[in-house]
Amino acid sequence: MDKVMLVTGGSRGIGAATCLMAAKYGYAVAVNYHSNQEAADAIVKAIEKDGGKALAVQADVANEQDVVRMFATVDDELGRITALVNNAGIVDQPSKVADMSAERVARMMSVNVVGPFLCAREAIRRMGTSYGGPGGAIVNVSSAASHAAGGGGAGTYIDYGASKGAIDTLTEGLAKEVAADQIRVNAVRPGVVDTDIHASGGLPDKPEQAKSSIPLGRVGQPEDIAEAILYLAEAKFTTGAFLDVDGGV
Ligand code: NAP
Repeated sequence: MDKVMLVTGGSRGIGAATCLMAAKYGYAVAVNYHSNQEAADAIVKAIEKDGGKALAVQADVANEQDVVRMFATVDDELGRITALVNNAGIVDQPSKVADMSAERVARMMSVNVVGPFLCAREAIRRMGTSYGGPGGAIVNVSSAASHAAGGGGAGTYIDYGASKGAIDTLTEGLAKEVAADQIRVNAVRPGVVDTDIHASGGLPDKPEQAKSSIPLGRVGQPEDIAEAILYLAEAKFTTGAFLDVDGGV
């Protein structure tokens, strides 16, 4: 059976590293992006240069029509997916809850929670055995911020921490709900990883500052997380599991 993986937010950071590694694991890869087509095209080119198969596909995961169109495009161009990585996610400028607008919290939940729900729905309809599919895997990208040990985003973005808490609950519940459909659902919880997300949230120095509090003495690289994602995508008897990939925090 051909292996096809859709990675949301596959154009940059952790998602991009996951796309490149997935190709090495033999997946045809759908590289979703929101606005940076150039970055997505570069990942597709790199995969094709190594003899792999890939497709860049634009969609805002928070937009239901975009998500439906994205999955239909992947059906047509690469075939039915066998793995979904719910990776696309955003932070926002540092803010205390006392200063948060409804619009900010709603946007955070739309991208980080509604998006993964919609993508999981479309994936289940294709992979689930009760829908005629072969089974498959969903890997959700949560965060150390989802739980108390990671601080829950206190002082900067509790809305982000709460969105990732929802992803943890989605992972636990969905793993049980779709097990009979032969779909495994797992999550990685990265600690601080060296990507553009910190600058996009107004904290470009966060990786440098975090280093000293990480037992392994360095921040994560996107490949460190990609490795864990691919492990969970492939691990045939693992479902409802969480991998904390945070250097020992
Ligand atoms: P990043 O470098 O900022 O990349 C974000 C990716 O998501 C880009 O490919 C971006 O597409 C895409 N994206 C953003 N909004 C989207 C939307 N509405 N629809 C579709 N795609 C969208 O982020 P990252 O650091 O790799 O983070 C990836 C995931 O890991 C996120 O879920 C994040 O919460 C989680 N995480 C990161 C860290 C960390 O320290 N970096 C730690 C814990 C968890 P464009 O290129 O088109 O903008």
